[in-house]
Amino acid sequence: MKKKLIYLDHAAATPLDHRVLAAMRPFFASEFGNPAALHDLGVRARQAIDASRKSMAEIFHTTPDTITFTSGGTESNNLAILGIARQMLSAAHTTANPSRPPLGKGRVSKSPPFQEPVLSGTKEGVGVVAGAETSRGQIITTPIEHDSVLGPIKKLEQDGWKVTYLPVDKAGLINPEDVIRAIRPETVLISVMYANNEIGTIEPIAEIGRMILRYRKKHKTQYPYFHTDACQASPYLDLDVDKLHVDLMTLNGSKMYGPKGAGLLYARRGVTLEPLLYGGSQERGMRPGTENVAGIVGLAKALKLVQKNRDKEIKKMTNLSQYFYKQLITNQLITNNSLNGPEIGEHRLPNNLNIEFPGIEGEALLLYLNEAGVMCSTSSACGLESSEPSHVLEAIGASPQAVRSSIRFSLGKSASRQNIQHTLTQLKKILQLF
Ligand SMILES: *Cc1c(COP(=O)(O)O)cnc(C)c1O
Repeated sequence: MKKKLIYLDHAAATPLDHRVLAAMRPFFASEFGNPAALHDLGVRARQAIDASRKSMAEIFHTTPDTITFTSGGTESNNLAILGIARQMLSAAHTTANPSRPPLGKGRVSKSPPFQEPVLSGTKEGVGVVAGAETSRGQIITTPIEHDSVLGPIKKLEQDGWKVTYLPVDKAGLINPEDVIRAIRPETVLISVMYANNEIGTIEPIAEIGRMILRYRKKHKTQYPYFHTDACQASPYLDLDVDKLHVDLMTLNGSKMYGPKGAGLLYARRGVTLEPLLYGGSQERGMRPGTENVAGIVGLAKALKLVQKNRDKEIKKMTNLSQYFYKQLITNQLITNNSLNGPEIGEHRLPNNLNIEFPGIEGEALLLYLNEAGVMCSTSSACGLESSEPSHVLEAIGASPQAVRSSIRFSLGKSASRQNIQHTLTQLKKILQLF
């Protein structure tokens, strides 16, 4: 008999929606023209890209020229962070920009002396400041970002940028007041993820954005810019950039039933970035290279579909998560405080359950579950090559033992009561083995 397969790892990758595949298919076959070509095939490819950009811009409530297509979330995050930082440095050498914050290295004398920002939230965590003595500018972020945000920021830190990691509470939430308190005259960028990939925390992006706007107005400056990584948020949350008050926003296809290797960066008009690549005029020179036409078409179709079904999916996912969690408790497989991150509700992605099974080795549990046909993950999917403990669970204060005992179930469109029931039956059997 074929074993029943239950996929509960949607935070790592989603299956391609069949309608997305249908929209993409022609561009793998007859519609192969180079979008830069002047003949009909080229024109049709160009039109497909234009239509995709326009449709996504409408969902973001912005204009198409603010969208740059990339190879995914990682590239978009790198483009946002390195793009802003490098633009600041090259602007320092070329033009005199009166509204640019004072930067260090070469202009050190003009920089105000470094002052430890005073952060609140002393109970749950203290703001950590790292970096070299003389800074090139400051970046503010959180300790629970995806590695594709933390990676480029660490690189900048090595290059002399000052980085402030905001405190997070037990649920992984950022206090917007802490963000404002951490801002200094040389702060150029603040990057806070919209929703966390491991524990599902939904950060108060609109509130943070509003407060940053107020800060800029008060200090008559256009800095700091505000970036958010919305990769996990796209199927469930509002992506209106006006309401969110973000200057930059990252999105990818693979977390919303779209293609892998396709993503975008929204950058508000007036925000200039140094590109990561050079050599062509595609994407207004922001991302040279022949466009991934099928990927772009798939990205737009996927976003349209998930955003249309948002309310229905939220309801369905919340119900199933709640049912799953309650059943785990009722069956005494876990206790009342085994859920890592926020409680199920407005501060948590409705499809995410990150659960500690006390005394159990998470990785072993995962492998037994896989044998039984249930696919989930030990926190972040990126754990395979680097078996380092989750930086997210560590940041919210989980003990090393709790980190090792935690498993992430991320539900999706294929989830049902039946599937969850089957998973519970398997879990019960497996946990008896430990
Ligand atoms: C998956 C993910 C990324 C990386 O996206 P890729 O398309 O795999 O490069 C970045 N941020 C978050 C929150 C993610 O979940």
